[in-house]
Amino acid sequence: MSKDSGRQNLLVSTRSEDAVGVSFEEAILQPVAKEGGLYTFQSLPTLNKDDIARFERLSYSELCEDIFARLGLGLDTHILKEALQSYESFDDITNPAPVKKIDSDLFILELFHGPTRAFKDMALQPFGKLLSSFAKQKHQDYLILTATSGDTGPAALESFAHKENIRVVCLYPQGGTSDVQRLQMTTQNAHNLKVLGIEGDFDDAQSALKSLLADSAFNDALAQRKIALSAANSVNIGRIVFQIIYHIWAYVSLIKTHSLSYGEKLSIIVPSGNFGNILGAFYAKKMGLPIGRLVVASNPNHILTDFITSGVYDITQRSLIKSFSPAMDILKSSNVERVLFDLYGAKRTKELMQSLEKTRRYALTSSELALLQEHFDAFFCDDEKCLQSIAAAFEKGHLIDPHTAVGYYVAQVLGREKLGKCVIASTAEWSKFAPIVESAISSRDTHQALVDKEAIKAISQYQIQGQNVCITQSIENLFSKTEVHREILKTSQLKENILHWLDEA
Ligand SMILES: *Cc1c(COP(=O)(O)O)cnc(C)c1O
Repeated sequence: MSKDSGRQNLLVSTRSEDAVGVSFEEAILQPVAKEGGLYTFQSLPTLNKDDIARFERLSYSELCEDIFARLGLGLDTHILKEALQSYESFDDITNPAPVKKIDSDLFILELFHGPTRAFKDMALQPFGKLLSSFAKQKHQDYLILTATSGDTGPAALESFAHKENIRVVCLYPQGGTSDVQRLQMTTQNAHNLKVLGIEGDFDDAQSALKSLLADSAFNDALAQRKIALSAANSVNIGRIVFQIIYHIWAYVSLIKTHSLSYGEKLSIIVPSGNFGNILGAFYAKKMGLPIGRLVVASNPNHILTDFITSGVYDITQRSLIKSFSPAMDILKSSNVERVLFDLYGAKRTKELMQSLEKTRRYALTSSELALLQEHFDAFFCDDEKCLQSIAAAFEKGHLIDPHTAVGYYVAQVLGREKLGKCVIASTAEWSKFAPIVESAISSRDTHQALVDKEAIKAISQYQIQGQNVCITQSIENLFSKTEVHREILKTSQLKENILHWLDEA
């Protein structure tokens, strides 16, 4: 079988100084690294101006193949090609992530044209195929655990439904997702999928997942059943790789439309939660893509904004606020750790992360903060401003979701003078958060927001740029499907429930 040529780039743990790496395949299958760290690239390849000029002639899949080869991840070409066929299920196979102009020098990178209408599809659809190919090749059964604030779950379930050697358990915070998001999970009818509501918020679901992964009795019980455990959350490096590529695609797309000239800097604004999306942009920048500022946009849970402006990451005084942009309602933002590793090395990363675990807080030195701020800016948007941004974008002929609206607001606040030409990562289609979007554009009090189904119908009555608003078929269909997964559990009941399901299945 053909492998991509050149030296294989091993992945190393963010918390381990002995640079003993593992292969990409191992890192995907066993995503938690030594000493609780995350697998990360030892080195990144460099793109020069000619490479970027050449990218102009590549299709999206060809660009993916090119970047994978440069990263030297040692993947079988046919496995990668098969995974990349996932983009055939996107709206436009020639352009799975279109860039649109919203204002002068301000663009939107639409990452929501996949089957579940959020940016998670960009990585999770091909990732699911990769993982099941690896599992099949090894003749090993895997249980994939995933915790979701609403968008990862649907994308993971869609990606893994009916896949051989794979079973998936998906945990979501009960009441913490939109109706559309919940239905996208609970109506997924495949023998290898299990969806469980958790009493608690997303951080509770994520903690439950982490403790199951680390639970030796649970792992033993799985081993007895000849099942290995893996996770599909955004800490998995297999997802991050795909998230580098669309930022490069955005840059190249703007070159193609003469909106940007070669070498000109482009700033990227990313509505951020677990920091996976913007980490992809950070890696693209490290590889030499001419990125100006990397802007982290957050919602009322603005721990990331505080961290990037002050150098102090502090959860001691905080509790999670339920906001209009729930996919960013997170306090422990996992992928920050990879940036720490990149900027300050493994030893310091371990120190900082241990401090976070023990004291729920850590602080950078002033020189460390300066280094962080060489790359990142940050600002946050409260719920009121979020509504106003949705309405303002709508006036200009763009229907944006609340997460994208957070980015749009931050773009206005930081201003073109600071950012130059700028692209906002649009992370979800409006239809996933229709009650808030409808309230914003009809000036309805959000306490009287319509339910998802009615809000979608109401929005479809509007016209935008002279055309009726379209509802994506798969979203419309959700409301007539049966909810096959209805269980709501306490986290303490998970272990037993999952093992029971495995024995039944
Ligand atoms: C997951 C998600 C985010 C946050 O992305 P991270 O990679 O976790 O920072 C933002 N918006 C939407 C709609 C999402 O689904």
